[in-house]
Amino acid sequence: MQRREFLRQAGATLAVASTAALAGCARQTLVPAATKPPLAAQLESGVARLAPIRAQTDRITGIYVCTRPFRAAGPRIEMETLGNKTIVHNYGHGGSGWSLSWGSSTLALHMAQSTGVHELGVIGCGALGLTSALLAQRAGLSVRIYAKALPPDVFSMRATGLWTPDSRICDAQHAQAFGDRWETMARTSYGMYQSMLGLPGDPIEWIDGYHLPDMTHSQQGESVSDEPDYGDFSERIRDLTPETITLPVGSTPFPQPVRRFTIMMFNITTYARMLMSDFQLAGGKIIVREFTHPRELQELPERTLINATGYGARALFSDDSIIPVRGQTARLIPQPEVNYALSAPRLNVVPRRDGLLVQAFADTGSFNNSDLTPHPEESEAAVRQLAGIMASMRSA
Ligand SMILES: Cc1cc2nc3c(=O)[nH]c(=O)nc-3n(C[C@H](O)[C@H](O)[C@H](O)COP(=O)(O)OP(=O)(O)OC[C@H]3O[C@@H](n4cnc5c(N)ncnc54)[C@H](O)[C@@H]3O)c2cc1C
Repeated sequence: MQRREFLRQAGATLAVASTAALAGCARQTLVPAATKPPLAAQLESGVARLAPIRAQTDRITGIYVCTRPFRAAGPRIEMETLGNKTIVHNYGHGGSGWSLSWGSSTLALHMAQSTGVHELGVIGCGALGLTSALLAQRAGLSVRIYAKALPPDVFSMRATGLWTPDSRICDAQHAQAFGDRWETMARTSYGMYQSMLGLPGDPIEWIDGYHLPDMTHSQQGESVSDEPDYGDFSERIRDLTPETITLPVGSTPFPQPVRRFTIMMFNITTYARMLMSDFQLAGGKIIVREFTHPRELQELPERTLINATGYGARALFSDDSIIPVRGQTARLIPQPEVNYALSAPRLNVVPRRDGLLVQAFADTGSFNNSDLTPHPEESEAAVRQLAGIMASMRSA
């Protein structure tokens, strides 16, 4: 598989490759089966204790569809004056909204603070709205969130839940112009996430995963992606990215060499609840309200507002630069003993605590697709593919 194609798939889903595995791929040493495996692989030679996943379609607890708010130029983080309000836009984070949220919202907050206000309104209660609101509180502002829906009924709750800071975040043409800002956001967010490790309920965890390459090398049925070339920033934060290592046959339960990667996982259910509680415990108020036109914002008491409406900004601010990129995931009944991710051709599995997340992906049909209708047959096929992988694993 071509590197670019692999990147796109990875960004589309587990993003295993995006900044973690792929960055590592560039540095990994491929070990021929006949030679002595590297030390780390030898140390892993009983890793073979990977708990099997009960991959059965009757264990699917839910199928979730949402759209990534992609903008070719990257997210819109800028100030605009509308009537007597200053609006700080903070939307359009593609497949990287959770990952970049703290960094992006830090930039947005600095803009809001430049207006000198002490009371701030935040429109939206997803990843970007919550982090904007919390950062503002921590800076001493009084904050009110206005949103038409709250977690768990926001798109952010349907994300995969991985550190994927350059997943569909801009197109390749805009990468150079956006790169420095992206890196600032990624590093700020990364730092914030390290401060949330080890908290009750494990909102944030580091996990290992195994990438199973396509051993068939079949060209049959391969279609060409209908998505643009995306910006790839993995080199910029290579120092934050644990190495990927190739593990030879015999050192894992898999019947083929695999690449092991290490990546940060967001247990979104626990994490979002923690953000909501922190906001409310600090005196934050939440008002459920839908805005159908920007002029309705003039009715709010706050002079400065952060607009974190995600895909909703397309309709509310008539911003056609937001392109919906559809994604579907399924969750299997949680198995606490399963603590590893899997990435296989057209399939990713993430061991979230709120359900083992199974994601199938296709080469075409997701870009500029706002259809939120679930396609259960796709998720069921992915679970069956996973069952096949489980059946091929040898037990410890
Ligand atoms: C399948 C899939 C997997 C993904 N996986 C990952 C991942 O692993 N890691 C990662 O970092 N990112 C991932 N993403 C991307 C991430 O989910 C988004 O970038 C992020 O959720 C965007 O957050 P948001 O706060 O901008 O928008 P949203 O979560 O959509 O929140 C918008 C808020 O604004 C409110 N709102 C909208 N319009 C209005 C209106 N008119 N009036 C009032 N309120 C309004 C909504 O009710 C909501 O409260 C994934 C996305 C998809 C689709």
